Amino acid sequence: MTVQASAQLPTSLPASVNSANSAEIDAADSMKIWLTDEVLFNYQRCPRRVFLDRYGDRDQRSRPPDYLQKLRQDSFLHQREVLSVAPFYEPSYPRRDWMAGFAATTLLMQQGVDRIANGVLQVTLDNGIHLVSCPDLLVKQPGHSIWGDWLYAPIDIRLGKRPKLDYQVAVAFHTYVLAAVQGMWAENCWLILRQRGTYAVSLVDVLPRMEEILQGCMETLLQQQEPEVFISHSRCDLCHWFNHCYEAAQSDRHLSLLPGVTPSRYAHLKALQLKTLETIATAPPKQLESLPGFGAQVAQRLVKQAQSTLQNRALAHVEASASPPVPLLSTSELPTANIELYFDIEAAPEQNLVYLHGVLVVDRLAQTETFCPLLAEHHADEGKVWNQFLELVLQYPNAPIFHFCPYEVQTVKRLGQHYGTPSYLIEPLLHRFVDLHERVTRVAILPVESYALKPIARWLGFNWRDAEANGAQSICWYDQWLATGDRAYLKAILRYNEDDCRATYRVKDWLVQFAQPAQSPI
Ligand code: SF4
Repeated sequence: MTVQASAQLPTSLPASVNSANSAEIDAADSMKIWLTDEVLFNYQRCPRRVFLDRYGDRDQRSRPPDYLQKLRQDSFLHQREVLSVAPFYEPSYPRRDWMAGFAATTLLMQQGVDRIANGVLQVTLDNGIHLVSCPDLLVKQPGHSIWGDWLYAPIDIRLGKRPKLDYQVAVAFHTYVLAAVQGMWAENCWLILRQRGTYAVSLVDVLPRMEEILQGCMETLLQQQEPEVFISHSRCDLCHWFNHCYEAAQSDRHLSLLPGVTPSRYAHLKALQLKTLETIATAPPKQLESLPGFGAQVAQRLVKQAQSTLQNRALAHVEASASPPVPLLSTSELPTANIELYFDIEAAPEQNLVYLHGVLVVDRLAQTETFCPLLAEHHADEGKVWNQFLELVLQYPNAPIFHFCPYEVQTVKRLGQHYGTPSYLIEPLLHRFVDLHERVTRVAILPVESYALKPIARWLGFNWRDAEANGAQSICWYDQWLATGDRAYLKAILRYNEDDCRATYRVKDWLVQFAQPAQSPI
């Protein structure tokens, strides 16, 4: 099977195949630039990471978080499960000895075996960069290649639910290197996703994008110019350079630490020479409004955010103009009651499992605070603790239920449906939920780097007993509890969850003062 519409695919194959074997690898090997599919994947997330991985001081890297190790392990197990449906050959070679892996894979391809797992493909480009691709699976197809009347097509096996572009780019990269190795383009390539099954990647659509990304990645590796830091928690939190980059960003007071500054907004701000907190804090919002991706609201908020950060104090999102001043939030939006519940869930979304409903019961009259952890010690207990949660919250039918972000409401709705809980129980419950994240971001601008619970509560002086704990770590602890039966892991989860509930309580009390100091209990 050759490419039918070859004009739509790149006409030139990567340069000649380097068929050196492992014996030729010498001390100079470490000087070579190996651009693997993993490097390309990382480049799409962050060019700086690719640069640091190649040229950075390795001692500055931090230990990978447990959660990353867990993701790798889950991914490996998933791959083995998918591979086990049919026999396969697997080349044997010393770890990261790409040339040995390539030689062993080539041998299997020459023999024309049906399936090759974890093969290594390699090609050396004119610029001296060695492209290395490791598809999870190579499957034999009818067609013509340098081996004879057959060729191979690549498949990647991914844990993710969706065929994200970076997955598709990686498999297009396999196809690109494979074309050079077998002297023929494979017509097809696929992803096997955990929930969606097999997904055919459109090479005609993705190859041009892959080539652009590959070009950028090669320039980053060859030019040796360190890309600017830009902290984005969604991509940086699991990166081994995080501490190093975060220190650099903090010492420069980099604008990526200012909530609301995205990479594209940052580019527009730099073009206007607005590169510091001071210049943004004094900029007229009108100057920013017309920039792409801004608008009046974003512009105003950004200027105030810079002011709040510089002054290290909370600012009202909209200044009170009425006389006498009216509360920023009504009592129905932010109720105070004799008994209040503070609620936080621990869940493993990829397993569709809720393993802890943590509820802090605050009795303002009796001046007591009681933490009630409803914990599923095993997967099968999820339904039991859901019913325990319902019993607990129904004991206090008038108590508002404070939480932070929409996840708790979404989960209660989902569990209600899943366990067939009658709507006459769920509906009144949902009306008692108060999302403090929504209230805080609606009325206040705070000198924090993000509006997650931790930075806000920490700014208010609250400290978690375990400073390193977070939701991802909690999932790892739960896995370790299941694997070892060591109850210390459960204790760590409960301690973290209780602190989350108490932090939510702290934020609520602060918000009452900030928004409506004259409020009285209902
Ligand atoms: S911490 Fe963030 S900015 Fe630094 S290398 Fe990693 S992903 Fe890039």
